[in-house]
Amino acid sequence: MLTIALSKGRILEQTLPLLKKAGLEIAAEELNSRKLILDTNLDDVKVVIIRGTDVPVFVQHGAADMGITGKDVLLEHGANGLFEMLDLGIAKCRLMVAAKSENYQQGNILKVATKYVKSAKKYFEQKGQPCEIIKLYGAMELAPVVGLSHCIVDIVDTGNTLKANGLIPLDHIEDISSRLVINSASFKTKNAAIKSWVNAIEKNL
Ligand code: AMP
Repeated sequence: MLTIALSKGRILEQTLPLLKKAGLEIAAEELNSRKLILDTNLDDVKVVIIRGTDVPVFVQHGAADMGITGKDVLLEHGANGLFEMLDLGIAKCRLMVAAKSENYQQGNILKVATKYVKSAKKYFEQKGQPCEIIKLYGAMELAPVVGLSHCIVDIVDTGNTLKANGLIPLDHIEDISSRLVINSASFKTKNAAIKSWVNAIEKNL
């Protein structure tokens, strides 16, 4: 039995066609049901659909053998207990610094609002810029507007969300896309099955 953890939302929409091409299908009734563990067209493959941030947790602990989530999530989670096997090239976006203007650095310590604490810390450390990270779970764009921070570190796709809130994208930190990750123990114990899925997915990218 193989369990695959998929991220809900915009990544899922782009993941399902990719899995279908590799030979894995989830019926609409399953997707539209309230079940958390979904059956697939194959008796030996089950799928769980969860929050992107939970995917590496399930995979690290072996609750799922494989998973698909964003590089932004993986950078925060770290590589403990899992391998990043494939860049799927879907749900592409950029991790960026954004602020109200280019001159966002005031005072010695830069206040940065973000949910990407590790990535933001690493970026400003490498620049030699002392910073205070303010962890938020959403609506980051609000922080510079209400004076909570000088800038934000967030994911930018079209840039419309930033623009709508009077912010401009400034520094590019990282290109983001969805990745296929594998539990390191499963990679050994279920090697043949996992390799054949990785090959089938890669061939159809
Ligand atoms: P946009 O207005 O197109 O720049 O999109 C910005 C917002 O959409 C961000 O604040 C993210 O929450 C979300 N977003 C955009 N692209 C992605 C992605 N590939 N994965 C997850 N969230 C995304």
